[in-house]
Parts: sequence; C-alpha cells; structure tokens
Amino acid sequence: MVIFAEHALLPGGWAQKVRISAADGHITAVTQGAAAQPGDTIVSALLPALSNLHSHSFQRAMAGMTEHRIAGRDSFWTWRDLMYRFLDRLTPEQMEAIAALVFMEMQEAGYAAVGEFHYVHHQPGGAPYASIDELSQRIFAAAGLTGIGLTHLPVLYSYGGAGEQPLVAGQLRFGNSVDGFAKLLEAVRASAATLPPDTRVGIAPHSLRATNPADLARALPLAAGGPIHIHVAEQPKEVADISAWLGARPVEWLLANTPIGADWCAIHATHMTPAETEALAKTGAVAGLCPITEANLGDGPFNGPGWLAAGGAFGIGSDSNVRISLTEELRTLEYSQRLRDIARNVMVEKEGSVGQAIYVGAAKGGAQALGRKAGEIAVGNLADLTAIDLSHQTLCALRPDQILDGLAFAAPDTVVTDLWSAGRHQVRAGRHVHRDQIISGWRKAVSGLLASI
Ligand code: ZN
Repeated sequence: MVIFAEHALLPGGWAQKVRISAADGHITAVTQGAAAQPGDTIVSALLPALSNLHSHSFQRAMAGMTEHRIAGRDSFWTWRDLMYRFLDRLTPEQMEAIAALVFMEMQEAGYAAVGEFHYVHHQPGGAPYASIDELSQRIFAAAGLTGIGLTHLPVLYSYGGAGEQPLVAGQLRFGNSVDGFAKLLEAVRASAATLPPDTRVGIAPHSLRATNPADLARALPLAAGGPIHIHVAEQPKEVADISAWLGARPVEWLLANTPIGADWCAIHATHMTPAETEALAKTGAVAGLCPITEANLGDGPFNGPGWLAAGGAFGIGSDSNVRISLTEELRTLEYSQRLRDIARNVMVEKEGSVGQAIYVGAAKGGAQALGRKAGEIAVGNLADLTAIDLSHQTLCALRPDQILDGLAFAAPDTVVTDLWSAGRHQVRAGRHVHRDQIISGWRKAVSGLLASI
C-alpha cells in the first residue's frame, strides 16, 4: 500500500510531495519530494490519525435524550436514569450494532483507534452470560466489521459508591470481584486473538469509588503490561466522597498508593489541586480528556496550563459519545480554557500554533494511552493515518503552518477524505466502506431498544 500526499505532517513539520509505503499494518518508507506512481492513493494532506482514548460505545444510543431538566431532581439525574433504563434492556446484538456505528463515526471523523472502556459485562440483573465475555465479543465483532484499531479495556467494577457501597439496579450488569475479573480477562484475551495484531487488551479499574484499596492492589498486576485506565476526579462530589473515605483526594491517593506511570491513563483528571496536577503530570501518565462529554455533563474545565507547564501528556476521548467529532473535541478543549481564563491561545506552551499543539499532543498521548506504536508518521509505526482535503473552503486559504488551526477551529469533520487504521483503508471519499450496512444495523438496534424501555 502506497499513499502519495501533496502535504504530510511529519515529525519535523510539514513536508511536500511525500510517498508513504506500508505493509502488515506498519509504515515501511517515507520519501519527501517524490512523484506519484501509478497505483498510489493520492491525497491532499496526510496526518497521523488520532487514537480516541476513551469510549463507552453503548451510551451513543442515549444522545439527545437527556437534555431536559426535571424540577426537584439533580442535574445529572436525567442522564443516569436513562442509562440505567437502557441497561435493563440492552441486548448483545444491540451492543454490537451500536458499537459498530460508533466506531464507524470515529473513523469518518479521523480517529484510527479507540480505547473501549467496557463495563457492561453481564445480563440484566447481573447473571453472567454463557460465555462470560459475550459482550466483549460483541465489541470485537464491531471492531472487526469497522476495522478500527481496538484497545479493549475490561472494567473492574465491584461497588456502587465510595466506601464499598453495594451495587444497585443497572450496576448489577457491571459487577465483578477481582477473581471474577481475572476469569473474565482470561476469556477476553482468548477472544481478542481473532482480531488483527494491533489489537490491545488492558484493564480499567472503573474509579476509586467502584473498588477498594486491597482489590485494586490485586487487580493491577492483571494488566500484564497492557494499559491501565481509571476515571479520576471528574466531579467535585467524587473528590469529596473519596477524601471522606480514604483521607486523601483521588489523585493524591493514587500518587501515594499505586505505581501510576506512563502506562496509565487518568480519565478526566478534572478537579486536581496545583500540586496534584504537577505530580501526576511528572509520572508520565496520560490525562484522558473528553472535552465534549465533560462540557455536556457539566464537569468543569481541566487545568491545561498547569498540566502543560509540568510537561504532562494528554489525549482526547469521546466518552459518552453524545457527539462524535474530532474537530469539535479539539476546539472544545481550547474554548473551555479560554472561557475560564478570559484569554486566547491557552493550550500551547510558550508560543506557536494552538491547533498544532493540541493535535500533535493528542496524537502522541492518545497512542501512548492505547499502547499503540503510533502518533507520528514514521517508519516502524502503525499506519494510523488520516487524509484531509485542503481544497475545502475552510482550509484552502491557509498556509501549511495554519492548517491544524483551520482544522481545530474552522473546519467540519467532513474535510476527512480517507482513514487508515493500521493500514486498513476503511474511509474512502469521506465514507466508511461499510457505512450502509452499519447504519441499517444501528437503526434496527436503536428502534428495538427504545421500543423495549
Ligand atoms: Zn468514562
């Protein structure tokens, strides 16, 4: 497979007339100042594709259904109530069809890979399926159909709230002891062997409130070198609950009691003190930022300037998947900082293009968080690539050094023409190659789900 790009973003910056060869999912040659050859796939501008580091794919089916207020209820209630009602009914077939739509939309938006933070394991009521990893197998089927690069993150979820509260209602589908989780992981790893070799399996202790210190210590070695993802400090109540129970704020507790480091991804990491921000950044852990979902759920802004000043790595995730848009995630991240600081051009250290700083940072951090050798167009890396159309009206007037600012602040996702996940050319002329099949599966699944609740 060979791509000829009029412009390509290489580790040293923008280059012109670049031929990129790939084999077995990996980039094998990058030649600048080349001429296109017959058979090359010709694109306008080629970028390292982002990895979407945080997704709960089934939540896509709730998009647009929880944006109303009910007097006397807390603001989070409509969202959580609908999620639990969905979980009383959601079938494996529906889980697969919804995930396929989500992965397709991610690829059409320019993401080559996804970290699926997968916490629905069991049947409604909590009984295991005949295959204990049935629902992981459904995620694998969706990944197989779409061709997205998958880092699967089975979730350990043992308690309903801080202080070992019992699971309730919809949470029964999530529940595992550490021993049950170890058995589940074993099954998941065997099932994942059917997927392409760029597939990764990690672990995700859901949050400190869904485990306890002894269980967490037993679970961490089960990662076996794979990524470890955990929700931390998303909302002030979570920080208060953990502080009251463990005597330390969530990030403070993790820093003192776990080997948190570069193989960890701290999802949200929203409510941190300046000291926590600096110390967590210096561990090398990736901050898993989900700007659209964090705005939608009213979580609050991340401390971007403090994180960048400490040299912190970050990546982007779409979390609830209320809207899957790479360009909108990039601009929402920066705008959340501008609105808080009453300032412009915040998410760049010292000086330079904000769009480039966010895009390049998220490409590297996202790949790190998913355990993918990607994030730069370089020989030996996975061919996770996205092509954008520089003739589009939102980009055509820009110099190369302004292209990523145009992408982040002005363009729609439809500027994406092509997407390769580990060399699999899944989006062509802006459409996923299996779009019609995936959309019809989604329509059937979501209408069946809504009819049942
Ligand atoms: Zn999440």
